[in-house]
Amino acid sequence: MDAQILIVEDNEDLKDSMQEFFGILGFRTFSVAQAEEALGILKANAIDVVITDIKLPGIDGLELTDQIKKEHDAAVIVMTGYSDDYSYEEAVSRGASDFILKPVRFNELLLRLKRVLNERTLTRERIQLLEELKKQAITDGLTKLYNSRHFFEQLEIEIARFNRYGHPLSLLLLDIDYFKKYNDSYGHLEGDQALVRIGQIIQDCLRKMDLAFRYGGEEFAVILPETSLQNTEVVAERLRKAVAAETFTPQDGRTVTLTISVGAAQYVRDEELTSFVKRADNALFASKESGRNQITAIAAGSPA
Ligand code: GH3
Ligand code: MG
Ligand code: MG
Ligand code: MG
Repeated sequence: MDAQILIVEDNEDLKDSMQEFFGILGFRTFSVAQAEEALGILKANAIDVVITDIKLPGIDGLELTDQIKKEHDAAVIVMTGYSDDYSYEEAVSRGASDFILKPVRFNELLLRLKRVLNERTLTRERIQLLEELKKQAITDGLTKLYNSRHFFEQLEIEIARFNRYGHPLSLLLLDIDYFKKYNDSYGHLEGDQALVRIGQIIQDCLRKMDLAFRYGGEEFAVILPETSLQNTEVVAERLRKAVAAETFTPQDGRTVTLTISVGAAQYVRDEELTSFVKRADNALFASKESGRNQITAIAAGSPA
């Protein structure tokens, strides 16, 4: 058992025997006589469950429960002297997970503690699962870049940010040149490998704040917040060069290179999202038309 528990009890005898009881059972156990000390221990340790008396000198168990729920992740079990004092109801309403009446029967407390720990494990697992699902929903399964659904969500967010702060916002669309030929020559699985590799190259060339997406089959997009068109061209050129410099080995003894064409556009105030993307796409098309393996930047104000 690696759960950490904290006992807060001003009756020294009871505190010590609880500490001993839970210690023998294998819990990492802290025990203190005052809530003030308890808060210190909570700051320095990842406590799972606090078992606290309600009546304490200084800060009482109810206030301690409040503070724990506000500032810490620990669960709280309160101990109270009289069944008819009802302070435990107050404690539960403030976020305590359970309560136990004094005199404390240790076996009952143990059962309650185990139930609370179990609940914590389940909650944690549920949160992890939810986070994993959320991540999957915005991730492209092959390249592990963000997917196109997330592209549109993020672009909308960045456009809203532009409208608030007015920092420049730019967009790159990238498309692998003659990729059909690569697939036809070496097979779809090798094509997939190349997509993964190019996705990595793109990611590696970017700053932390830039966002890379697999926009379509063999098309990628990069959102560059707070970046002028001029600086975006520098990034685009770096990407183009990095991809062209990479060697792929789709067949034994055979090394091949691939290139990308890139289109860049900078957001213009009040422009529709679709028009912004369309201008970057037009720039990409221009790169294809003029021979591929190059970048084209569409100046702000050019029609979509
Ligand atoms: P261009 O230079 O004009 O872009 O030529 P291209 O051959 O790259 O363009 P085209 O649009 O004709 O073909 C895109 C190809 O990309 C077709 C398809 O085989 C390949 N492709 C798209 N998605 C995937 C994928 O997920 N995996 C693999 N292996 N290939 C893909
Ligand atoms: Mg007390
Ligand atoms: Mg394409
Ligand atoms: Mg292509």
